[in-house]
Amino acid sequence: MKEKIVVCKFGGSATTSEQSIENIRLLTQDKTRRILVFSAIGKEFQNDFKITDLLIALTKENDKVLIINKIKDKFDKISLKIDKNVNINEKINKTIAKYNKNKDFNYLISRGEYLTSYLLSKYLNIPFVPAEKIVYFKNEKIDYRKIRRKLSYYLNKYQQIIVPGFYGIDENNKLKLFSRGGSDVTGAIFAKILKSCIYENWTDVDGVKEINPIFSHSNTIRKMNYSQLKLMTSMDAKVIHKDCADILKGKGIELLVANIFNINGEKTTVDDFAEKSFFVCYKENKKGVLIVSSNNRMFVRKEELKEKILKIYEKGE
Ligand code: ASP
Repeated sequence: MKEKIVVCKFGGSATTSEQSIENIRLLTQDKTRRILVFSAIGKEFQNDFKITDLLIALTKENDKVLIINKIKDKFDKISLKIDKNVNINEKINKTIAKYNKNKDFNYLISRGEYLTSYLLSKYLNIPFVPAEKIVYFKNEKIDYRKIRRKLSYYLNKYQQIIVPGFYGIDENNKLKLFSRGGSDVTGAIFAKILKSCIYENWTDVDGVKEINPIFSHSNTIRKMNYSQLKLMTSMDAKVIHKDCADILKGKGIELLVANIFNINGEKTTVDDFAEKSFFVCYKENKKGVLIVSSNNRMFVRKEELKEKILKIYEKGE
């Protein structure tokens, strides 16, 4: 029988609190979760900043000392949990000094994922494989062949690995970033290579919702197919990166969208076979707003959006 392999991606909020970090620890005790991809530390509360945004701010004309202190504070929260000799402040100082010399934007921004994953690997005692050793690009495209080779090398060597999401390296040794939210893409690439595996995407909501929760309390879609996911994520459903559906479809992969703060809560399972289930989503453009539900689509004026969405949702059509 084929070995069960699970690829996990932990979003930025997963590394912001004691509870979520403990949940990561619990989940990773299950050794079938072999590949663990991390985003950079995200927002802890509403007006907080993501590490990626702080790093971007550092490349602009801003109060650099203030930003560097914020970055250090955020990493400190995790490093305090690790009773090993990890001097994260020194690592951040070295990273910034290197950036000041090379002025490589991609280098600096990718260090959010790099340092978050590095710290988690120390905390969980799981080998760290930086993306520059496993995620390759060639001619501006993902080099699946080379990634497959490297992935099988590391999976033969180690039971579990931790890999930073969101970036890779090209044939000229230049770091490349995916678009925002791209750690989902890193996880999807590994899942596609493994085929017939499970791809768990640990975010901070109980799966994909029938409508955008800003409008009302809404149910989790328990089962959906990749075409439906593609449609929803190209509209207002930002729960997972819009490129994932295309990467994952037709490969026998089961995608699970789950909440790291509620690991036993409701989840969404996405595969190639699920019947269409009920959803309403929308997209704005210059002309107005396109609302798409499972069996209907309509154009409305911006001002009508909320009212129409709620009506469709309440009627269930
Ligand atoms: N840290 C990056 C972002 O904020 C990538 C990711 O979170 O997946 O967009």
